[in-house]
Amino acid sequence: MISNAFSYHTPETLEEALAMLEDGGGKILAGGMSLIPLMKLRLASPESVVDLRRIPGLKAITEEGGAVRIGAMATHHEIEISPVIRGKCPLLGEAASAIGDIQVRNMGTIGGSVAHADPAADYPAALVALEARIRLRSANGERTVEASEFFVDAFTTAMEAGEIVVAIEVKEEEASEGFKYEKVAHPASGFPVVGVAVRVKKSGAGIAMARIGVTGMGPHAFRARNAEALLEGGAGAAAAAAVVGEGEETNSDLYASGEYRRHLARVHAGRAIAAALTRAL
Ligand SMILES: Cc1cc2nc3c(=O)[nH]c(=O)nc-3n(C[C@H](O)[C@H](O)[C@H](O)COP(=O)(O)OP(=O)(O)OC[C@H]3O[C@@H](n4cnc5c(N)ncnc54)[C@H](O)[C@@H]3O)c2cc1C
Repeated sequence: MISNAFSYHTPETLEEALAMLEDGGGKILAGGMSLIPLMKLRLASPESVVDLRRIPGLKAITEEGGAVRIGAMATHHEIEISPVIRGKCPLLGEAASAIGDIQVRNMGTIGGSVAHADPAADYPAALVALEARIRLRSANGERTVEASEFFVDAFTTAMEAGEIVVAIEVKEEEASEGFKYEKVAHPASGFPVVGVAVRVKKSGAGIAMARIGVTGMGPHAFRARNAEALLEGGAGAAAAAAVVGEGEETNSDLYASGEYRRHLARVHAGRAIAAALTRAL
């Protein structure tokens, strides 16, 4: 199908882009991997499309003071191969490498993925497990939202009208941490039916720190804090995995019921915890 008519803009600065979005009729274009299909299906019919590609600096992946800053326009592939990501937050790189196929990873961006907030997107599991922060810019200035508060519902975030995701900030993973992203990919789309991201830090025979992020099971990604607390309290991987998703809403569709998704989340949390522990020093 062909989209409705729209005007196309290529601002050279963030300020110009923000001004173009002021009247509320415009949509940002990043990689176009989600927006263009929606426009072609006429599920989205923006009056104008504001392409961020010409704005300098939005692709940079940098590290400073123990934190990694990933520009919103960094593609999944750039994140997958970035030496900074590999060295400082490898869990995010592992999630990026699991997204779709190489064409999607070459075009799609992290800013577009988090703003779109598909309940089955890969990044959100890693971002909540990494306690990432989403940096937003509007005409009124910048603000930061914790990833666990950013994903509010299916296709719904804490972003307000006129805001642009400019970067994602992640604290460096410690070198001694173990990590793993486990995904059950839908056979047709490649999106996760369920994806689980795990970080663990050992302390002697126990676990000093555990973070578990889950995507695909419900309307938005969440941290399995009950399972994290069990691991930190001395429980084994199987006991902790068995409570993942307890009390959380689930998504059902023709491919997988909500209960099956919860079951998958638990099975794959168990595998991800075990794999992360083998990588922890
Ligand atoms: C065949 C296929 C397979 C895929 N498989 C997977 C998969 O396995 N896992 C997965 O996670 N994803 C998958 N995706 C989705 C892909 O990751 C997209 O890249 C992502 O959802 C959107 O990113 P984008 O840069 O293309 O954004 P766009 O499509 O350009 O934009 C998406 C939405 O976000 C808004 N937006 C974009 N950038 C910003 C910004 N900086 N600030 C504010 N709003 C913004 C746009 O206005 C639009 O509403 C797949 C997509 C396709 C087509």
